[in-house]
Amino acid sequence: MADSPDKELQPATLAAQAAGATDAETGGVVPAVHLSTTFARDADYAPMVPGNVYLRSHNENVRVAERLLSRLEGAADTLLFPSGMAAVAAVFRTVPNGASVLVQSQIYWGTTAWIRAFCARRDIALHEVEASDTEAFAAACAKHRPAIAWVETPSNPWLRIVDIAAASEAAHAVGAQLVVDGTAASPVLSHPLSFGADIVMHSATKGINGHSDVLSGALCASGPQSETWRMIREDRDMAGAVMAPMEAWLLTRGMRTLPLRMREMSRNAMALAEYLADHPQVETVMYPGLPGHPGHALAARQMRGGFGGLLSFVVKGGAQPALRVAGRLKLFHRATSLGGVESLVEHRHTIEPHTGIPEGLLRLSVGIEDVGDLKDDLAQALGQ
Ligand code: PLP
Repeated sequence: MADSPDKELQPATLAAQAAGATDAETGGVVPAVHLSTTFARDADYAPMVPGNVYLRSHNENVRVAERLLSRLEGAADTLLFPSGMAAVAAVFRTVPNGASVLVQSQIYWGTTAWIRAFCARRDIALHEVEASDTEAFAAACAKHRPAIAWVETPSNPWLRIVDIAAASEAAHAVGAQLVVDGTAASPVLSHPLSFGADIVMHSATKGINGHSDVLSGALCASGPQSETWRMIREDRDMAGAVMAPMEAWLLTRGMRTLPLRMREMSRNAMALAEYLADHPQVETVMYPGLPGHPGHALAARQMRGGFGGLLSFVVKGGAQPALRVAGRLKLFHRATSLGGVESLVEHRHTIEPHTGIPEGLLRLSVGIEDVGDLKDDLAQALGQ
């Protein structure tokens, strides 16, 4: 990488070497942190380094992380935001008042709740549809002719799989932009742009950073020319929803091990899904890696290298037995979020009691610990 070989490099190489970012000034193999909020001009009043004027729009640590994400996602351009929700909001702020949008139902609750409130405020017609039903999604696109069609795959916490190629076709037939929230897959396990999506959104807080210590969001675009993308970029620069340099530096550091972590998390999650599927106290396991999952064949086509670290399962008997299991776990932290190296468990019904989440559902974010230790912990918590 130091010699910039011409051949297209594999994700593990791109990530480990941060797509070639070093510190040219000192020879450091790791880029320096650039905290300056402003940049000097020369005696003729030209910026001393072309393109560097003010931190809100110009920071090298943000650029390094964006370049690496573009390479990993196969994107023409990437924009980072200070949170995943800021990235979601950046997309919807481009929608004109009075237009309509189509959003997958039963996705991450924070996204749904914000979009509902935003659309109500802005007089935007919001239509929600079960997008893993390809025909229902296409019919809703044709009927409502949305400006933006938004899907999340695999979805959180239901682990539903959306056919991205079919959704792109349906969206483009009515002039809509298809945006895919690919948080649970990360840029390692799926490439929605290659299936026709216009923009991929990530909560980079999750697997991309991977260490539960940076809040961030990303939008990756298939082409930088669209009017929507121009508006998103301009609004970020002017309204200032930007990532801080130190956060961007940490994000790049986290991404160096992204392919390694996603592989290990997927392997662990697969083993735990198989274990739970056979457990007498477990009613259902939702994990696209399981052959019995309704989206398995599609996920196997659309994802590569694994099915991710997110899985949900329903404990027999409802809320109380599920909370008892969560309470007995010793290694899994009882905490929200996902994609970190440490395993987490969450009782989603407690968080969103009115959205149809089964009362017995526990969502696991499977980390990179020893899988035998994780299995033993689940076994003792389930009482077997
Ligand atoms: N999208 C998904 C699928 C998520 O799980 C989350 C957070 O949990 C978000 C978006 C929002 O991201 P953030 O918490 O970084 O704002």
